Amino acid sequence: MRFEALSVFPEVFSPYLDASIMGRAQRSGVFSFEAYDLRDWTHDRHRTVDDAPFGGGQGMLMKPAPIFEALDELSLNGSSSPHVVFFSPCGQRFDQRVAERLATKERILFVCGRYEGIDERVYTLADDVLSIGDYVLTGGELAALVVMDAVVRLLPGALGDELSAVDESFSSEGLLEYAQYTRPASYRGMDVPEVLLSGDHAKVREWRRRNALERTALWRPDLLESARLTDEERLFAQDVLRSDGDDRHE
Ligand code: SAM
Repeated sequence: MRFEALSVFPEVFSPYLDASIMGRAQRSGVFSFEAYDLRDWTHDRHRTVDDAPFGGGQGMLMKPAPIFEALDELSLNGSSSPHVVFFSPCGQRFDQRVAERLATKERILFVCGRYEGIDERVYTLADDVLSIGDYVLTGGELAALVVMDAVVRLLPGALGDELSAVDESFSSEGLLEYAQYTRPASYRGMDVPEVLLSGDHAKVREWRRRNALERTALWRPDLLESARLTDEERLFAQDVLRSDGDDRHE
C-alpha cells in the first residue's frame, strides 16, 4: 500500500509514522509514505495557496489551482492512479468499515485542508471526502494520520500477530471488544474474573462474547442494530439495556 499526502505542513507526518508499529510496518515494506508540499505547485514569489472567499466572510480559503495542478502531476506518477481522499467536517464519517474499504486500495492520496477550508470546486477531484468526527480541527493532517493508522493495522504483516485485528472493537461481529486483563490477577482489591484464569477455552470464549455484548449494550447501543447476534444474544442485550435504564431511574 502506498500513501501520499498533499499538505502545507508536510513535515508533521514523519514523527508519528516513523515510530512504533507504523515505523516497523514502513520499514518492512507493508506501506510506504510520501508527503508533498502544496506550495511547490504555486507560481508567485510568496508561494500563496490561499485567498479571500467570494461573498465575504471570515478567514481564507485554499485556492483551487495549486491543488488541481498537484493532482494532475501526482496522478501521472507511479503505476496506478491514486484513490483521492479529502477531509472536511462535512464529509462521510470515518469508521472501521471505511478503513476496511480503504485497505483494499493500492495507492491513496490525502489532500489536507487548512485555513477556513477549500474552494468547493476542488471536491470534484475527490473519490472520498471524510470526517473523523463532529468537531473542527485546524487542518487535515491529523485526520490523514488517523486514517492511515486505522488502515495500516488491517494490512497483512502490520501487526505482529495476524489475529490481533480480528477480535478488536467494531471488527468481527460489529461489537465493542471485551474487557482484557494481564498480571497480577489481583490488584488494589480488584480481581480478574475467575473464568479467565481457569484455562477452559470454551468458557473463556463464552465469557468474552457476553462481556462484549454487555459493554456494547451499555456504551454503544446504536451498534446493536447492525451487529451479528443470535436471537438469544439479542434478548440478553435488551435485558442489559433495560436494567441499565431501570438503574438510572432508581
Ligand atoms: N470551515 C470548515 C467548516 O466549518 O466545515 C472547517 C475548516 S477546518 C478549520 C480546516 C481543515 O481541517 C479542513 O479543510 C479539513 O481538511 C480539516 N478538518 C477539520 N475538521 C475535520 C474533521 N472533523 N475531520 C476531518 N478533517 C477535518
